[in-house]
Amino acid sequence: MTDTPPSSPPSRKGRVFQAGAAREPQPVLDEKLTAPAGYGSSAAPPTEQREPAAPAGAPAPYTGTKGDVHAEVLVLGAGPGGYTAAFRAADLGKQVVMIDSRGPLGGVCLNVGCIPSKALLHAAKVIAETKEMSHAGLSFATPTIDLDALRAWKDSVVQRLTGGLAGLAKQRKVQTIVGTGTFTSPNMVTVAARDGSTTTVSFDAAIIAAGSEPVQLPFVPHDDPRVIDSTGALDLDNIPERLLVLGGGIIGLEMATVYSELGTKISVVELMDQLIPGADKDLVTPLTKKISKEYQAIWLGTKVTAVTAGPDGLTVTLDATASKDKAKAPETAVFDKVLVAVGRRPNGRVVGADAAGVFVDERGFIPVDKQQRTNVAHIFAIGDVVGQPMLAHKATHEAKVAAQNCTGHTSYFDATVIPSVAYTDPEVAWVGVTENEAKAAGVKYGKGVFPWAASGRSLSLGRDEGLTKVLFDETTDRIIGAGIVGPNAGDLIAEAALAIEIGADAADIGLTIHPHPTLSETVAMSAEAFEGTITDLYMPKKKK
Ligand SMILES: Cc1cc2nc3c(=O)[nH]c(=O)nc-3n(C[C@H](O)[C@H](O)[C@H](O)COP(=O)(O)OP(=O)(O)OC[C@H]3O[C@@H](n4cnc5c(N)ncnc54)[C@H](O)[C@@H]3O)c2cc1C
Repeated sequence: MTDTPPSSPPSRKGRVFQAGAAREPQPVLDEKLTAPAGYGSSAAPPTEQREPAAPAGAPAPYTGTKGDVHAEVLVLGAGPGGYTAAFRAADLGKQVVMIDSRGPLGGVCLNVGCIPSKALLHAAKVIAETKEMSHAGLSFATPTIDLDALRAWKDSVVQRLTGGLAGLAKQRKVQTIVGTGTFTSPNMVTVAARDGSTTTVSFDAAIIAAGSEPVQLPFVPHDDPRVIDSTGALDLDNIPERLLVLGGGIIGLEMATVYSELGTKISVVELMDQLIPGADKDLVTPLTKKISKEYQAIWLGTKVTAVTAGPDGLTVTLDATASKDKAKAPETAVFDKVLVAVGRRPNGRVVGADAAGVFVDERGFIPVDKQQRTNVAHIFAIGDVVGQPMLAHKATHEAKVAAQNCTGHTSYFDATVIPSVAYTDPEVAWVGVTENEAKAAGVKYGKGVFPWAASGRSLSLGRDEGLTKVLFDETTDRIIGAGIVGPNAGDLIAEAALAIEIGADAADIGLTIHPHPTLSETVAMSAEAFEGTITDLYMPKKKK
């Protein structure tokens, strides 16, 4: 859209589902620049791309010795990657078997990740909002927290979704097997059930969707029940008085948000000199400022070198020599619990992929090409196990590509960008090129920034610390990246992701009429700020 009369944009419907449909990337969006942070790490690069092992086409039927069960398509892992791949392959007419070691479907995301964390973050938000309204003359009593009821509610949300998946699998006649699957050859997996029984499953094609596990640290006594990972934090066993969050990335800070509102004194220690290191500093600053007032301590540029378990708590040894902060961490501090949230490691080795001839790199990632194909032509891999960003929405998109390719269609993962969101308070969300990346790569960009202190909607929500920043290519005016901090930033970033995918420019965004009063207007106003047409702020320099 521009100032000229409108014309119908070309439809891209089904673009990844056609032979050779890989689309030209946006000129300014270099692949190196579009690797966002996921839940596994804050700024790790994507895995290497390898050449396809064989020409595209449906894998041939397996003619060797059959297993106890035979699958036209075997899916190993039932997380957002696995169940999406299984359902898509079934919808395309294949007989599918899906194996997962945990009972309920849904993988990490539904059982111990995205969904339970967001349920608890909602509870935290309700508590926070009741406190915030005291400024507006509404005072609420301190909430009484029935931990068993809160846990049961969170579990009910999870069960509703995982139960729904079981229903969807049944409707599609996807056979599910509960147990740990291990490749024994290029066409066979052995599944070990908890009761000790085994089932062999032969397959024509396989999709590895085995996900990832929390990283453990060698100097931390992980067998002590007071040392928890994100799964332990979501279990909500008790509300500790003093919690150290080891790792200031997305998972650690989301859990800190929950426990802080439940009454825990939170300390956060982060090795880098910024929380959420993958995001631009100006987006993280409003969050850091807010939680610095609420938490007991935030130690940046600080290393944990030891954790010792004692009867009165966990004694943590800290090295703050690299910290630029005035208030440095003490040499030791004692906590009731320590949440280790320093990243996730892929499960490539866990599934014995090498027995099938599948290459697994030294970190446990399984490299794939843009068709999600491993170095073995009939074996595909998707989700956390193939690389960063470790995000559910990346896994589901890769899943459809893999399912389509192993059912004889030709399909490519050609997303230009993948958005990242920290569901903290305020939320921090970004997509495409960050300013840090643009500067490092020498990209010529311009930016439009809209402070939420000038947004009527934000002020009416009682919040003014938010910020919307949109980056544009200086030559074409096309949007190349965006970052938002503030309530609901995670929802708002979707507009920027779509704008990048369709190659929108600043005028397209600024001239799109956004509903008033909404936070979405801040995206349009950032574009206007870049264009120099904004009237809601005074910007004397640009005149258009
Ligand atoms: C606390 C937390 C919060 C998160 N929040 C978000 C969020 O808000 N948004 C977001 O996008 N992402 C979030 N994530 C990340 C997200 O959960 C993952 O990116 C996503 O689940 C990856 O999907 P997947 O299909 O690759 O694998 P997974 O969801 O990890 O599923 C893999 C499955 O395979 C099973 N498996 C592994 N090995 C075997 C084997 N040998 N045999 C049988 N089964 C096996 C595992 O048990 C698991 O069930 C969060 C993660 C955590 C930990």
